[in-house]
Amino acid sequence: MKLTIVGSGDAFGSGGRLQTCFHVSTGEFNFLIDCGASSLIGMDRVGLDPAGVDAIFISHLHGDHFSGLVWWVLYARHVQKRSKPLIVVGPRSIEERYLTTAEALFPGSTEKENPFDLKFHEHDAGEPFNWRALMCKAIEVCHPSGAPSLGLRFEFGGRSLSYSGDTEWVDGLFELSAGVDLHINECFAYEAGLRYHTSWKVFQEKLCDISAKRIILTHMSRPMLERLEEVDEPRVSIAQDGLEIEI
Ligand SMILES: [Zn+2]
Ligand SMILES: [Zn+2]
Repeated sequence: MKLTIVGSGDAFGSGGRLQTCFHVSTGEFNFLIDCGASSLIGMDRVGLDPAGVDAIFISHLHGDHFSGLVWWVLYARHVQKRSKPLIVVGPRSIEERYLTTAEALFPGSTEKENPFDLKFHEHDAGEPFNWRALMCKAIEVCHPSGAPSLGLRFEFGGRSLSYSGDTEWVDGLFELSAGVDLHINECFAYEAGLRYHTSWKVFQEKLCDISAKRIILTHMSRPMLERLEEVDEPRVSIAQDGLEIEI
């Protein structure tokens, strides 16, 4: 699997980073993990064609993680003139939230028919979801978003990738990331004490029990970005927009 980090920012564009979006290419098919509002911008910057995306997995229903779907579908419909199907996999009520958001941003847009088959799949924590040769597993994390917020694990062809989504540390992440080739963890804050997001100080204490081979931190706030040089652990590196990683 090849991962391209399309957007590694928080909700506020801290450090000039784009909102969360990861592109994964398996060689057989391609999928996105999260689709923040700036996802099309980010894909264009790194030369990734939205036409090549077969599925979009969403961790939770906050605007900086799912609202890019609105522009993505409009682009697919009007610019790309997509004909191949797209599946969007996310937490319960994702389709309803997408429709409400699309209607608020582009009134009347949801009444028009798509020239491609757009399917939503509601993914419950604990139930593996198999799509083509990809296995996706979800756990519920601790981050209020009006629907269950999920951490995700993907396995394909003997390689594995896990992603915390947005959350304060929950012990379920130990199992979610067990033995994976790459774990992506949000790290919004440096100091402990913030609810619903991970801080470096808390994450650092958990590191010895995280068995992922490699770890990447993402979704950093400005105060966290200012202290990146203090993150000095052999397995841990920092996400950058445009970074490509072979998994
Ligand atoms: Zn976020
Ligand atoms: Zn969030």
